[in-house]
Amino acid sequence: MRKVPILYIVIPCYNEEEVLPITAPLFLEKIHQLVNEGKILDESRILFVNDGSKDGTWELIKKLSKEEYHYKGIAQSRNRGHQNAVLAGLMTAKEAADITISIDCDGQDDINAMDAMVDAYMAGAEVVYGVRSKRETDTFFKRFTAESFYHLLNWMGAEVVFNHADYRLISSKVLNAFSDFKEVNIFLRGLIPLVGFNSTSVYYERHERIAGESHYPLKKMLALAFDGITSLSVKPIRMITAAGTIISGLGFCAIIWAIIMQVMGNTVAGWASMVCIVAFLGGIQLLSLGVIGEYIGKIYLETKARPRYIISETTDDVQE
Ligand code: UDP
Ligand code: MG
Repeated sequence: MRKVPILYIVIPCYNEEEVLPITAPLFLEKIHQLVNEGKILDESRILFVNDGSKDGTWELIKKLSKEEYHYKGIAQSRNRGHQNAVLAGLMTAKEAADITISIDCDGQDDINAMDAMVDAYMAGAEVVYGVRSKRETDTFFKRFTAESFYHLLNWMGAEVVFNHADYRLISSKVLNAFSDFKEVNIFLRGLIPLVGFNSTSVYYERHERIAGESHYPLKKMLALAFDGITSLSVKPIRMITAAGTIISGLGFCAIIWAIIMQVMGNTVAGWASMVCIVAFLGGIQLLSLGVIGEYIGKIYLETKARPRYIISETTDDVQE
C-alpha cells in the first residue's frame, strides 16, 4: 500500500472570471472531502495557472489564495496556450506534490472522477487517464470534429488515448521523467503515453460548460491536431515519399508511352497534356515543400531551446 499522497490539482485559466467563482469552491470542496476521507494529505493544493488572461482572472486567483490556504496560483508572463499552461502547472506542482490532477476550470469534466483516479493511484497506477464515456451534451458538430480529431491523430501516427483530453492524474515520478522531455512543441496527450509507466483509465461523463465560452473553436482544434501530428510523428513525410514514388512510377510509364508514340509517328501537339503535367507536379512539389518546411520550422524552434514557460509571479509572493 502506498502512503497517503499530497495532491495538486492543476487548473489552467484563460479569461475565466465568469466561471472561476463558481468552480473554485467545487474544487475546494473536493479537496476537503478527500482529506476528510483520509485519501490525501492536508498539504494538498489547488494550483491555478493564469495563462496571460486579459480579464480579472489573476486578481480573482490572488483573492482566493488569500482567503483559503488550499488555493495557490501562478501566472504565466503571457498567453502561451492551454498545453503550456498545464505544463507550467505540472512542473511547479511536482516539487511539492506526490500526485497531480490536471483539469479544465470550466466544470465540464466531472470533478467526482478524482476519487477513482486517486484510488487507481493507490492501487499502483502512475498515470490515470480521464476518458469521456459519452458526448451527449456536445453538439453533433463538436462531437463529430472532436472524434475525427482522435482518429486523425492515431491514423497519422501520434498515438493518443481515445476521448481523453487533458484530465488526468500523473504521479511526481512520471513528471520527473517527463521533465527530461525538452521539446518546445508540446502535445501532452501524445507525450505522456511516451513517458511510459503503469497507466489506467477512469470513465466519466462530460458536461456542458458552466459559464463563459469555449476557447477551443475548430480553428484551434485543427491547429492542435496539426501540432500533435507534426511534433510526434514523421508519417506525413513518409506519405510524401510514398506519393513521390507512385508519381515517379507513373511518370516513367508516361515517358515510355511517349517514346512509343514518337516511334510510331503518332505525335500530337501535346500542349494540353504538357500544361497538365507541369501544373500537377508543381502542385505536388509545393505541397511537399510546405510539409517539409513545417518540420524544418520545428527543428529550428527546438534548436533554440527556448524556455517552455516562464512564471512571473506566484501567490506565495502575495502571502509573504
Ligand atoms: N485555456 C488556457 N489557455 C488558452 C485557452 C484555454 O489556459 O489559451 C484553458 C481554459 O481556461 C480552460 C481550458 O484551457 O480551463 C480548456 O479550454 P476551453 O474550456 O475553452 O476548451 P474546450 O473545453 O471547449 O475544448
Ligand atoms: Mg471547456
